[in-house]
Amino acid sequence: MRSTPRAWFGISKSWNPPVERVIVHADMNSYFASVEQAHRPGLRGKPVIVTADPYGNPKGRRSVVAAASYEAKKFGIKSGMPLFEALKLCPQAILIGGNPHKYAYLSRRLYQLLKSYSDLVEVYSIDEAFLDVTHTQHLFGGAEKLAFELKERVKKELGITCSVGVAPNKLVAKMASEWQKPDGLTIVKKEDLPEILWEKPVEEIIGIGEKRKLKLARMGIRTIGELAHTSPVTLRQVFGIVGEYLYNAAWGRDDQPVNPFPPSPKSLSHSLTVEKNLKTFEEKQALLLYLIDDLAFRLRQEGFKAGKVAVGLRFLDLSFKFKEVTLSPPTSNTRRLFAYALKAMEGLPSELPARLIAVAFSSFQSLKEEQLSLFEESSKECLKDKTKDEIIKRFGPETLFYASSLKIKPFLFKGPAATGLT
Ligand SMILES: [Mg+2]
Repeated sequence: MRSTPRAWFGISKSWNPPVERVIVHADMNSYFASVEQAHRPGLRGKPVIVTADPYGNPKGRRSVVAAASYEAKKFGIKSGMPLFEALKLCPQAILIGGNPHKYAYLSRRLYQLLKSYSDLVEVYSIDEAFLDVTHTQHLFGGAEKLAFELKERVKKELGITCSVGVAPNKLVAKMASEWQKPDGLTIVKKEDLPEILWEKPVEEIIGIGEKRKLKLARMGIRTIGELAHTSPVTLRQVFGIVGEYLYNAAWGRDDQPVNPFPPSPKSLSHSLTVEKNLKTFEEKQALLLYLIDDLAFRLRQEGFKAGKVAVGLRFLDLSFKFKEVTLSPPTSNTRRLFAYALKAMEGLPSELPARLIAVAFSSFQSLKEEQLSLFEESSKECLKDKTKDEIIKRFGPETLFYASSLKIKPFLFKGPAATGLT
């Protein structure tokens, strides 16, 4: 009889044979642009660029490409590219001012959908997640059927496509989801590893950016196969602890678990640079309410009350000043948060023209901890918040807002292409 690893490692009682894991990585395709195309049929099939200057002037000089639709990508447009460069490649591209509210909301819906396939879902970014389906795949007829169903549901329920990778670990699942885009599905079995990786260029390994790629190239290493056949000692000498990771990655090894508990945020913040300087206190007040309204919604969705509110202003000479106030008791109510934010803003030279307002909430307390604020949570105000949140969740963030927010329009919109709030 063959000796078992139990004997090799001298472990006697608690050793369990390792279960082969099945990890799914789902990555939404051209997320922001796809969401806009799903919501506005007129944009489908057209080169669309979502700009990273939220609500600002999408044609503004400071703007960059936040996402490009597949039709725009064909012209060589990439995320992160300055907008003027992208427009040189494709002057007819349709520009959309990004709407982070909407993308975050859809991302939460996506998370709920993914949760129906496993309790172990790790949100990796706004449009990507890992699922450990090792113990649930059989309920869906195996990993492949599960992945197909998941893709179909994302298409049907959110109107967007995603690329999916299935593999024995997170590292390979993420790499595999890149291999077929858009709308792809790649399944890597344990027996395909590590050879399936070896033809690929080293930069496909997560964590190998331009710098490390260059360093490896200088060592004559361009493919993952070449990396796998480099001495781990050498890699360790050159890259330190990362060298060990690189060596294991080249052999398709990764034992990081899917972590369904992301660290809870310590603060939430939001800021806006305006197109037209904010001159009066009233103008600043209107924009402040707009920001607080948005951030308070996020705060409640995260399940927190804030104990501190900070407001910052950037002036025309680019200096930045901020003031923080403590809330007693902490709250998640928009009106109270706004009242405290106003107090903070009064402590700033708010008569000076400003070009940016920033708001941050911190010192969080769970919404579930009722304590003394039991009163507050049951008040009419909180009921108003809850009702408003429900409407926003159902019909989208632009359906309900404070009338005074209309006053800020001239500061946010300029030029016919700005469509951030449509
Ligand atoms: Mg993506």
